[in-house]
Amino acid sequence: MDGNNQPVVNLISKPDNMLKTVYTACRTCYSADYPINIYNSTDDKEKMLKLIERVISSGHYSTIEHIQVTFAIANVSRACTHQLVRHRHMSFSQKSQRYVKEKGQFDYIIPPTIEKDDALKAEFVEFMGKISEQYQKFVDAGIPAEDARFVLPNAAASSLVASLNLREMIHLANLRLCTRAQYEIRTLVKKMCDALIAEEPWLKPYLVPKCERLGFCDEDKSCGRKPTQKELLNV
Ligand SMILES: Cc1cc2nc3c(=O)[nH]c(=O)nc-3n(C[C@H](O)[C@H](O)[C@H](O)COP(=O)(O)OP(=O)(O)OC[C@H]3O[C@@H](n4cnc5c(N)ncnc54)[C@H](O)[C@@H]3O)c2cc1C
Repeated sequence: MDGNNQPVVNLISKPDNMLKTVYTACRTCYSADYPINIYNSTDDKEKMLKLIERVISSGHYSTIEHIQVTFAIANVSRACTHQLVRHRHMSFSQKSQRYVKEKGQFDYIIPPTIEKDDALKAEFVEFMGKISEQYQKFVDAGIPAEDARFVLPNAAASSLVASLNLREMIHLANLRLCTRAQYEIRTLVKKMCDALIAEEPWLKPYLVPKCERLGFCDEDKSCGRKPTQKELLNV
C-alpha cells in the first residue's frame, strides 16, 4: 500500500499494434482487400485516425472491441470496487475476503471529506480500529474469514486485476469521468485513462466524460461544463 489514500493503478497489458488493429477492423468494412493487406498497407497515422474517428462517431463499435487492456489496481475501497464491478463487459479477479484473512488493522480508505476534518478523521480511525478488534475476535474464536468479514466496512481496501476491451474502456470513461460519478471511482477511472493515454495518446479524445462526446449534458443535475439537453432543445 502506498498509504496516500489514492488508487494505485498500473496498465499491465495492452496490444502493441492497437491503432493499426483498430484501423484494420474499420477499413475491412469498406474494402475488397484482404484484412492482412490492409494491415500491412499503411503506417500513415493521420489517415488511420481520420477513418477511426469517422467509424466510431457513426457508432460502429465492433471495430474497437478487438483491443483488450488489463490494469492492476490497488488501494481502493470496497465501495469503489462494488461500483466498478457493475460494468458487465469487464473481467475481474479481486482479492478475496474469504481466502485472505486480515491480520492486525485492515487497510482502509478515508474519503477526503472526512480526511480534511481532524476531529472527524480521528473518529473514523478509531471506528476502523474497533471494527478490526471485533473482526479479530471472531477469527480468534474460530469463525471462518468468510463470515468474520461481515463486519468489514465499505472503506476496507481491496485490490484487483481488471480487463476490458476498448469499447468498454471508452464507455467506462464516458460514465465515470462525469462529475456526477462518485469521487473515488472517478479518481480510479481517471488514473486508468491516464495510464492508457500515456501509451496511446490518440485515445485522449475518446477517454472523456460523456458530455464531451455528446456535446451536451444528459444528467438531471448538470455541473455546467456543457449545456443540458433541455437547454439545447429549448424545452
Ligand atoms: C453517476 C452514477 C450513478 C449511479 N447510481 C446508481 C444507483 O443509485 N444504483 C444502482 O444500482 N446503480 C447505479 N449506477 C450504476 C449504473 O446503473 C450501471 O449499473 C453502471 O454504471 C454500469 O453501466 P452500464 O450498464 O451502462 O455499463 P456496462 O455494464 O459496462 O455495459 C455497457 C453497455 O452494454 C449494454 N448492456 C450491458 N448489459 C446489458 C443488458 N443486460 N441488456 C442490455 N444492454 C446491456 C448497455 O448498452 C450498457 O450501457 C450509477 C452509475 C453512475 C455512473
